Amino acid sequence: MRGWLPALVALALAGCAAHPPVRELTMPRTYAHGIGGATFLIGGSFEPGRSPDGNSLILYGPEGALLVDSGRHPEHLTAILQGLSGINMTPVAIFNTHWHLDHVSGNPALKAAYPRMKVYGTSAIDRALTGFLATSAEASRKALAEGAIPASAVPDVEGDLAMIARGAELRPDVIIREGGDLVIAGRPLSWRIANRAVTESDLWIYDAVEKRAIVGDLVTMPVPFFDTACPEGWLAALDAVTASGAEQIVPGHGPILTMAEFGVWKTAFADFIACARGAGALETCSAGWLAGAKPFVMGDKRAKAMVDYYAGLIRSGKLDGHCKA
Ligand SMILES: [Zn+2]
Repeated sequence: MRGWLPALVALALAGCAAHPPVRELTMPRTYAHGIGGATFLIGGSFEPGRSPDGNSLILYGPEGALLVDSGRHPEHLTAILQGLSGINMTPVAIFNTHWHLDHVSGNPALKAAYPRMKVYGTSAIDRALTGFLATSAEASRKALAEGAIPASAVPDVEGDLAMIARGAELRPDVIIREGGDLVIAGRPLSWRIANRAVTESDLWIYDAVEKRAIVGDLVTMPVPFFDTACPEGWLAALDAVTASGAEQIVPGHGPILTMAEFGVWKTAFADFIACARGAGALETCSAGWLAGAKPFVMGDKRAKAMVDYYAGLIRSGKLDGHCKA
């Protein structure tokens, strides 16, 4: 008997090593590829020196195709158009999880290519166009005039400015004000709203048939993008995702996660906010993210500077206005 216990412990430990909570993750492929359930993922890229594209998804139903988010760069738009042209189904809808330019910039070109496409989203972009986006456009124009933008980043900044100038064309045709069950393209889906999370009002989708939550920037890699967020509202939205019954999470940036992996990400996220809201050294907050969320950072060397910045942003109280109703 005496020899058994250490052997069992050793076996259990070996089991842990063989099945870590998070696999080795890599960024999703940038061309449309099937992920099951007549659903295709177009992975958003985040190249060095450039702004990101959000992930896009194409969902096919018996009455057409639905696109979730439309990216920022022309290359991402090309991948969407290729994905949509692959199957003989009419695209009927674009669903924008939120108004960030890396998720909506493809809207005008896609609507021109497919006139039946209607854009669904919240009305939060209206406030963004006169608020955050107007302010950031002004800052960008000033920085460009002063030569303060690195040459490699100039095309992205100019692209964003051109898109903000066409802001009215980015707005949804159908405004979603509350969650509910809908059928789009003949496909039953649940639409959920998260207020005061990544933006003033975010949408996410629960695909009950596939047990899949498509959550936009409620989950991002290599770091959470806090620029327009209410940290506590965001955390509450993650609880709703946990409670949804999903077995799989499609993030706004980064690869698809299991619920166990999402749990690890969420714990690191909650720890990061608690640290940034505390009084300790900010470096411990960013170090905490880089350690607790290591699998999701995927070795991205930019992550440290980004979490350093976001820890300071939360600590400064500058995001608190986003938490007010
Ligand atoms: Zn994004």
